[in-house]
Parts: sequence; C-alpha cells; structure tokens
Amino acid sequence: MERMMTGDGRVRTFAECRNRRNRRTLLRVSVVLGVLLAAILALLFCLGRFAGRGPFAPGVAQAKYSPSSWSLIVVNRWNRIPDDYPAPKLTRLSNGESVDSRIYPDLQRMFDDMRAAGLHPEVTSAYRTEAVQRQLLDEKIFLYQNEGASKEEARRQASQWVAEPGTSEHELGLAVDINASGATGTKDSVNEHQWLADNAWRYGFILRYPRGKTDVTGNAYESWHYRYVGAEAAKAMHESGQTLEEYAK
Ligand SMILES: [Zn+2]
Repeated sequence: MERMMTGDGRVRTFAECRNRRNRRTLLRVSVVLGVLLAAILALLFCLGRFAGRGPFAPGVAQAKYSPSSWSLIVVNRWNRIPDDYPAPKLTRLSNGESVDSRIYPDLQRMFDDMRAAGLHPEVTSAYRTEAVQRQLLDEKIFLYQNEGASKEEARRQASQWVAEPGTSEHELGLAVDINASGATGTKDSVNEHQWLADNAWRYGFILRYPRGKTDVTGNAYESWHYRYVGAEAAKAMHESGQTLEEYAK
C-alpha cells in the first residue's frame, strides 16, 4: 500500500489523502452555496420588504372575524378574508346565483317589496369563489392589455374595478349586485337603485361603496353593490352616513 508523510509527521495512505481533499472541496462548495443562498434570501427579503414583491412581501392583512358578529366583517383591499373564515352555507337563487343562507330571508323580503312597488330587480352577481374572482380580474387585465396598456398598467387599472382574489366581499356570500332584470347599463336600473338607496337599510343591507368615500372603502361608487350587515347596523349606518369601515372600527 502506498503511503505518504504528512506535514505533521503522520503517515497516511493516498486514499486517506484523497478523502481529506474531497472533504475539503465539499466543505468549500457548501460554504459557497450557503453564502449564495443567504445572498438570494437577503435579496428576496429586501424585495418583499421594500417593493412588496416575492415570498417575503407583507401581503394584505387578514380581516378581523368573530362568529358572533359575522355580518360586520370588513373585507376590502387592505383586509383580506381570514384563512379560517368558514365556507358559507349557500342558498341558490332562481337565476343560479347563490348567497349566504343567513341573508336569504331578508333579501327575499326586500325583493318581494320591490316587486310590489312595480320594480324588476335581479341579483346579477352574488357569491363567488376565489377562483371565479381571479378569473374576473384576469379577464379585466386582458381587456386593458388589449387596449394597449402594459401588463403593469393593465393590472393597476383592472384592480380599480375588480377586487384581488381574497379581498372581494362577493367571496363571503354577503354581497349582492342588484340591477333591473335585463339591464344592459346602469341607466336601465335607475329606479331599482333609487329604491335600494332609500330602503335597503330596512332589510339589513347597505350601499357599500357610496359616492365620495373611495378613500375609506377603497372602492369607487357602485350604485348596484349591496352588502348585508344586519338590521341594527344598517339602520345606524343609514342615519349616520358612515361606511362599514367607519361603523365597524
Ligand atoms: Zn359587487
């Protein structure tokens, strides 16, 4: 067996020397990889912290939720639906839309009274899954891109009209878009929207995105979007003119 003398006077076989060299190389490679990994992690962390991108981005905070005040949950662009929010039990409407079963009796009562007043309301959008919300947003982004906007610009413009998945009240099952049956534009629903603005509170619903409150709600005025908050809160908000964000604070 071939042997060689080492610096400290010990005798090692060539195989031992090769093993030691291999171990040293492995150590060096590990250190380099470790440093590289740390650098990448640090870069991602900075990107998340200062540019709000990547796995370390702070993201949207979870909305506060308590089962005892379920109808007052505030979901908006700054407060996403909490991870532990229970999937709503749904009631299907005659046109295929669904709502949280807890709001159905008041919604039905409101629609009965609207029809008795000679109006023709229809729930044009109610409960949406997160996947459907994502699809809506993607379609809107696509539309803006088609009009020549960059991806970034299209996304910015689309998010003014369609909420990011996880931040839409429609995913709660507590929000309904109400228009005149067969309407093709908001003009066709003027009478229905006026009636709702005057009376929806009596049934526990509020105009969720009023005029002049965009900085509070994060949403532009929508004459068709109504949110169930319960009779007591709806009455108080109708009288004070507060938004849900202001009332539930
Ligand atoms: Zn809506």
